[in-house]
Amino acid sequence: MTSQHASFYFAKHALLNSGWANNVLFKVANGVFTSIQADCEPPKELSSSITWLDGPMLPTLANVHSHAFQRVMAGAAEVSLNPNDSFWSWRDLMYKVVQKLTPDDAQVIATQLYIDMLKAGYTQVGEFHYLHHAQQGKSYAQKAEMSLRLLDAANQSGIGLTLLPVLYAYSGFGGQTPTEGQARFIHSVDSYLALQQACASAFSMSNVNQENKHNVGICFHSLRAVTKPQIEEVLSALDPNQVVHIHIAEQQKEVQDCLNWSGQRPVEWLHNEIGLSDRWCLVHATHLDPNELSAIASSHAIAGLCPTTEANLGDGIFPAVEFEQAKGRWGIGSDSHVSLSIVEELRTLEYGQRLRDQQRNRLHRAEQPNVGDNLYQQALIGGNQACDVSLGLKVGSRADFMLLDDAHPFIAASQPCDFLNRWLFACNENVVKDVYVAGEPIVTNFSHPLEESSRKAFTQVIKKVMYDE
Ligand SMILES: [Zn+2]
Repeated sequence: MTSQHASFYFAKHALLNSGWANNVLFKVANGVFTSIQADCEPPKELSSSITWLDGPMLPTLANVHSHAFQRVMAGAAEVSLNPNDSFWSWRDLMYKVVQKLTPDDAQVIATQLYIDMLKAGYTQVGEFHYLHHAQQGKSYAQKAEMSLRLLDAANQSGIGLTLLPVLYAYSGFGGQTPTEGQARFIHSVDSYLALQQACASAFSMSNVNQENKHNVGICFHSLRAVTKPQIEEVLSALDPNQVVHIHIAEQQKEVQDCLNWSGQRPVEWLHNEIGLSDRWCLVHATHLDPNELSAIASSHAIAGLCPTTEANLGDGIFPAVEFEQAKGRWGIGSDSHVSLSIVEELRTLEYGQRLRDQQRNRLHRAEQPNVGDNLYQQALIGGNQACDVSLGLKVGSRADFMLLDDAHPFIAASQPCDFLNRWLFACNENVVKDVYVAGEPIVTNFSHPLEESSRKAFTQVIKKVMYDE
């Protein structure tokens, strides 16, 4: 996967960090953009060594929130069993699935998932990883076994991995004893710090051959699952540059339980008791009062939005218009993986606001009135920060990019200012044709080299885990 030599790419249209540009020559060395020249005539002496890119060239995105194993049950919880089906009844099914998964199963699921993410245009994934132990909570001989399986899956597929090993210690606010269904997730602070260390050394070895695509962050499952002293101890023991992720305020019940326990709402509690900063990614943050919303926005923490999962679980509607007005930063994640489509995440986010407000064109900024471009640019900025990576078509960034299919009439006929709106609001078929990671082609003509064998293995795991076949 290493590319020591310099390579050249030429695109007719490319979305640079500064906006759309025409006739752009890119130089890539060691997997990184080292020069970008717009409005250029490619030098004749280079013409045989240039890769000529067809179709509009876009940066890829980081997917800020994934629970890889949940892909195996996507779409299997859509049968009404109870008039009050909710997040909490979905979680019961998820706990049953968890009990059956072996490390091999988890790796097969993650490999297929990451291939599908790459084909969608995500080239980095924030893996919020809490399935740590064997059945009944027994440790594996290699304590980081499940984390390393995710790393193997990332290396097989070619995606960059931001592993977020989760500290999960309790079942409810104020340190309530974990349930039997949570046994595979549970760590003490000491065992969690040992896991962090094991991951750090495995990742630094793996990065030698992987263009430094991988990194490790810090993660607390939720305020239900950890205590204040635990958060403080973990943050003071680990590198202050690591990103920190947490699920927060996804459900009204969670907000009410937090109020009953502490007298404060979840984001209010985190802001007052621990403090927010640009290290934090607050996953969901669906239920905010105006003070909480401005606390997140002014701290430059990321709101990790998962629109398709939040819709699927009936979580509620994030106040995205108000958050945009406050210049809040946000990224997108596919979370439970009912959808692996950038289009569907961004469209659901925008349409949720339109339906709420009974108005059109909600998520734009004064400097960017074009909704599709604004959605995409904000998701790029937020995804980079939450996953501690630098994606985007600019010098110094990892040379990840995608090409849209210029055989599609909406892409072939459009002007650059319309490419993103046409794609995000009007294309239902996938138009992400080619995807490059660190300058290497990973998806070519809609296809990943491992997809056939991976799909077969994934089919077997679905049959085994979901249908006992
Ligand atoms: Zn989640």
